Amino acid sequence: MSAPPEGLAPDPPELPKDLSIAIVREGRQLVKAAVEFDNAPGRLADLLQTLSCPEHTLLTLHLATTPDQSTAIGHLYLEVTGAGEAADVERRLRMKPYVRKVFIRMGYGGILVDSAFPLVLSDKAQAIILDGQQASEMFARVRELMGSGGAVIVYELGKGYGRPRFVRIIGTRGVEFMDAHPEYALQMLSAMGWGKLTMTAIDREKGTATIVVEDGFECRGQKSTTPHGQFIRGVLAGGASVALGRELECEERRCIAMGDEFCEYFLRPADPPE
Ligand SMILES: [Zn+2]
Repeated sequence: MSAPPEGLAPDPPELPKDLSIAIVREGRQLVKAAVEFDNAPGRLADLLQTLSCPEHTLLTLHLATTPDQSTAIGHLYLEVTGAGEAADVERRLRMKPYVRKVFIRMGYGGILVDSAFPLVLSDKAQAIILDGQQASEMFARVRELMGSGGAVIVYELGKGYGRPRFVRIIGTRGVEFMDAHPEYALQMLSAMGWGKLTMTAIDREKGTATIVVEDGFECRGQKSTTPHGQFIRGVLAGGASVALGRELECEERRCIAMGDEFCEYFLRPADPPE
């Protein structure tokens, strides 16, 4: 096992982020309240206070606001006891003058599936949620069937994702911001749960960079004698090429599928100047 490279400090223990696509409470009565309200300091706390009573237990919530902070949409998931409590949740929320819309939905058989749609990322791109292990198996299946051609297909899929994604990120944040904060795009991929991506070295003159991926979804749980992260490699090559306006290639130099502690990718110009 090789030691983590300099610059990759061990992370403190972290709390996982549960996306709660379904809540299961055997034999309990579950209610979801989707609420849109005029946002202002203290409003969310006031709403939660409104729902505070022995008959209601808040299980989880999700809150998002518009960029100007004027409107908030909350999705609240509660366990309630007693008949008529779902109606009571709605009545309590509607009493608030700043609440614009309330939608109430009941669970069934102790299950509440959150079918809120569409899902959107914070940059408003439509999102889908994939089970990371199954996504990894999906790519592995292509490679199993197609051999080395499958690895190329998975790599090109990554490029096909990375290029438009980085075009979008650059379009939103601008070239200057991206140049000042090259780690931003990597953090966005981390935020989507793909793994913990860290830039551990960058040489702007040579156009090279080293990126460490810890617990990457593609390589985690796989066994290989060669570097396995073709999709991520394609994403990084495609994305970095867009970001720098020149073709870069990407090589995976360490890989957890080969027994390394983390995956490490090296970006360099496809045709370095002589
Ligand atoms: Zn790997």
